[in-house]
Amino acid sequence: MPERRPRLEGKVAIVTGAGSSGPGIGTGKAISVLFAREGARVLLVDRVAKQAEGTLAAIRDEGGDASVFEANVINPADCQGLVETARARYARLDILVNNVGILGPGSVVEVQEEDWDRVLDVNLKSMMLTSKYAIPEMLEGSGGAIVNISSIAGLRAGSGGASIPYAVSKGGVIALTTQMAVHHGRDNIRVNCIAPGHIYTPMVAAGMTEEMRDQRRRAGPLGTEGTAWDIAWAAVFLASDEARWITGVVLPVDAGLLATTPLAMLRHLR
Ligand code: NAD
Repeated sequence: MPERRPRLEGKVAIVTGAGSSGPGIGTGKAISVLFAREGARVLLVDRVAKQAEGTLAAIRDEGGDASVFEANVINPADCQGLVETARARYARLDILVNNVGILGPGSVVEVQEEDWDRVLDVNLKSMMLTSKYAIPEMLEGSGGAIVNISSIAGLRAGSGGASIPYAVSKGGVIALTTQMAVHHGRDNIRVNCIAPGHIYTPMVAAGMTEEMRDQRRRAGPLGTEGTAWDIAWAAVFLASDEARWITGVVLPVDAGLLATTPLAMLRHLR
């Protein structure tokens, strides 16, 4: 058997929202840990530097290479700053993972305008801003890969607990991805998007009962609970040269949820 080389060997990656903490592991943290295991040097970006320090410690414990940059991705100067910091520390940029996302409640009737603006800014405008500065930097090298984290909520509507700013922002992430993929294809910059299903992370664990958790598990055809590691493996693939001919896709990582219908799943949900 040929020995496998680390899949991101020699690459420099920025991951936003890299420092989650709480029950379960957050997606940004899992992506950062796997990227480092696969040989990337990772700039761990988070609004709360102390949390990203936890991710840094986990990576260093395994002998990986990473560093922390505190930034709020709704701030244009911070988005410029995170790219400049990657260049200053590592002298190149190959991968950007736009992972930050927050929830926002309400139907169109219920939603507060401030919530709408805040969620759209954090979940969508931030991805435009980081990409605006990252792409010129990638062009200094031989191209790059961008992975945007959307959600199945960008493709399908839920009923109870409407969350329209969140869903609209995640639909926007899909449009942003396909547009960017076409605009920058000839620059050898690939732009893809992951649509996670009901995974168990610190963000959703807060306030979730065991019953809700079990329902989320049973909703997908596989019937198993997804974690941030499932999303992180997809991100490793899309960021690696193994995906060199893949751009502009929306990859659901959802235990098959988008492949089925409520009626087909009814017997598993009762
Ligand atoms: P996560 O744990 O990866 O990310 C949370 C981190 O982002 C925290 O460390 C937080 O401090 C940081 N952050 C929040 N706002 C920020 C800002 N403005 N600037 C910089 N950092 C900021 O969260 P997660 O639950 O794993 O979700 C990751 C992504 O996956 C999100 O985009 C989310 O919408 C998406 N997603 C999650 C689920 C789910 O079930 N958890 C489902 C579908 C999609």
